[in-house]
Amino acid sequence: MKPVVDAVGSQKPVPVPDAASAPFWEAARQHRLVVQRCEACGRDQYPPDLICRRCQSNRLSFVDAVGGGVIYSFAVYVRSFMSGFEAPYVLALVDLESHSVRMLANIVDTPIPSISVGMPVEVTFEDRGEWVVPQFRAVRS
Ligand code: ZN
Repeated sequence: MKPVVDAVGSQKPVPVPDAASAPFWEAARQHRLVVQRCEACGRDQYPPDLICRRCQSNRLSFVDAVGGGVIYSFAVYVRSFMSGFEAPYVLALVDLESHSVRMLANIVDTPIPSISVGMPVEVTFEDRGEWVVPQFRAVRS
């Protein structure tokens, strides 16, 4: 999956879908988080690929993600290294509870001091013009 292209001005980068990732990004535009599943061995994988990274099958499909996630690790950026990302911001690895995949995303709409490893999070969607990027936030009770 090609992650991004250069940002224009102060805008955040946007996805550049390829053959493997296009269904993921098309679903995101509909505010749906999907996970790629191998129909041969049943393994879920992220990022999407043209073949299963476990069994090399090309029988792959996308399923809607079930449930939320848990923060595996995170970093608080106190300086901005990329146009469009105003510090402070949080980059995290999120384990999807029902899919054995780990996603890289920003934690948004969440007070930074409250963020911790193991914290339950839910997906939210950030509009970036033509495209939409899945992000995560603290579970709202
Ligand atoms: Zn497989």
